[in-house]
Amino acid sequence: MGDRLPTLALARAFPALAQTVNGRPLAYLDNAASTQVPLPVLDAMCDFDTRDRANIHRGVHTLSQRATQAYEQARETLARYVGAGPDHELVLTSGATEALNLVAHGLSDRALAEPWLRPGDEIIVSGLEHHANLVPWQVAALRSGATLRVLRPDAAGGLDTEALAPLLGPKTRVFALTACANATGHRPPYEALLALAARAGALTVLDAAQAAAHAMPRMATLACDFMAFSGHKMHGPMGTGVLVGRRGALERLAPLRLGGDMVESVSWDETRFAPLPARLEGGTPNVAGAVGLAAAADFIEGLGRDLIDAHVASLRGAAAAGLAALPGVHVLAPSETRTAIVSFVADGVHPHDIGTLLDGLGIAVRTGHHCAQPLLDHLGVGPTTRASFALYNTPDEVERLIDGVAHALKALR
Ligand code: PMP
Repeated sequence: MGDRLPTLALARAFPALAQTVNGRPLAYLDNAASTQVPLPVLDAMCDFDTRDRANIHRGVHTLSQRATQAYEQARETLARYVGAGPDHELVLTSGATEALNLVAHGLSDRALAEPWLRPGDEIIVSGLEHHANLVPWQVAALRSGATLRVLRPDAAGGLDTEALAPLLGPKTRVFALTACANATGHRPPYEALLALAARAGALTVLDAAQAAAHAMPRMATLACDFMAFSGHKMHGPMGTGVLVGRRGALERLAPLRLGGDMVESVSWDETRFAPLPARLEGGTPNVAGAVGLAAAADFIEGLGRDLIDAHVASLRGAAAAGLAALPGVHVLAPSETRTAIVSFVADGVHPHDIGTLLDGLGIAVRTGHHCAQPLLDHLGVGPTTRASFALYNTPDEVERLIDGVAHALKALR
């Protein structure tokens, strides 16, 4: 493999990309919402469902054993992908949302044991968060009597350790942060922020949803207790995701899904839970999904994450420069260099109108608040238009985006 991604050859591995939309070749630039799935991932899932499909863990028969093996192998592949160390466990979930809810619920639920969060404690959440890493903490605060504090971004939407330090204190029990703000593309210095919060005694939570496809943080190198991400944002199937954590931290979590497969013994009156990770994976899991997600991790590894990361960052750089040069267009996080997301507003034009006209040109982008309304309100920008890049996107598609936005602005102003 050279030092560039063979994007055109790569695109052929993604059947969904080979279509026209409104008479134009599809330029799929909505990867921060969901990426497309390559053939090796589809094949892995199809192979599982056509040969090995059976329920896992409790079967003596051959298919059940094969399914169990496939599921546990997927877990191992994903543990390698996230750079887990020997003191980490990886829990398979339905997505980042479930993983983050598992943590927020698990640290505040008082039914089974004394929870980590108690009245008077403090939870700090960054102001960059997707609702999935904010709302569960609002509810955890209500449930536990803890106070929620927000690490507010600066006027440009950035975060730094100087702003975090004064919020930390003996009452800080949790610090939750994103590895990349999905609404703006800002990539905070999460390594330093997590380390600072961990030194203050907080359990640290990293939402890696927007990093998973190209810049997956490596658990073993971070002061991170819990990290969450979704499969569909890294070329894996929808309805899959991961919570990886330090074993000692995961052991503090009250389980969210109670039922089969997560118990060791059950009587009419009492239950003993299974050890990790099964304790946090109640019910029949999405085994084909886990297999597909592991295949997606292998696909990314096979291309080289650094190469993908450099590729999407360069597309973002070109898109940000081209869009910012259009009259009355304001790019959020304009100087960010380590992101795949470009989000912008245009004076006098609503993002939905831009998105609709772009769709007419075969260009898929997302418009709105991107489930991060408090951040966009704080920045005073409201809804935005967001393009987001993946390994199969090309400079030509960036040109089409810029030309398409220029055309939309002319038509709409
Ligand atoms: N966090 C971030 C930063 C996201 O961008 C998203 C998805 N937009 C989520 C969490 C939630 O992911 P999911 O809907 O796959 O659970």
